[in-house]
Amino acid sequence: MARYINAKCRLCRREGVKLFLKGTKCVTEKCPINKRAFAPGQHGKQRIKLSNYGLQLREKQKVKRMYGVLERQFRRYFDIASKTKGVTGKVLLQLLERRLDNVVFRMGLSLSRAQARQIVRHNHIKVNGQKVNIPSFSVTPNDLIQWKAKESAFKKIKENMEITKDRTVPSWLVFDAKEFCAKVIRLPEKEDIQQPIQEQLIVELYSK
Ligand code: ZN
Repeated sequence: MARYINAKCRLCRREGVKLFLKGTKCVTEKCPINKRAFAPGQHGKQRIKLSNYGLQLREKQKVKRMYGVLERQFRRYFDIASKTKGVTGKVLLQLLERRLDNVVFRMGLSLSRAQARQIVRHNHIKVNGQKVNIPSFSVTPNDLIQWKAKESAFKKIKENMEITKDRTVPSWLVFDAKEFCAKVIRLPEKEDIQQPIQEQLIVELYSK
């Protein structure tokens, strides 16, 4: 599967949000967005007035990068969302947030969603007692997501959890740090994402 290469905190500045793409920087205060909240490069400080289309496109790119989802899959989430009862933009965000790799990231077992994807692919995660190695697996309320103990990777997970321990696990998940598991108690709401996202712009973009 294709992935974004060299995606680091430079992209956080480009998009104006913490993307948690790689390494420890983003989870700590070191992410440059804390100090330099303007786009990178020589002209980063200039305010370029984007067209409506430009804003919509930017917003879509931002959310795609955040979740590490490529265009085709992202578009598929939109199609599902638009056919689902409820507000399309909200359902779209819920679908992204419900991805198993995102849940592992939210639990603090990984420092980035990319790392979470790897953890899932390498068979370290169980859902309701069953091995699930599909990063896009969509969790539903009452699901129990569990770290499937394996000595080799366990040390790394503990290190990660030490780094992420001050991060708040969103309240749609009940996390048990001792058992390395989380229960889904409801669907995620927009507030749970804790990032500035204007999902309406994405809906407008795809609705043209
Ligand atoms: Zn960052």
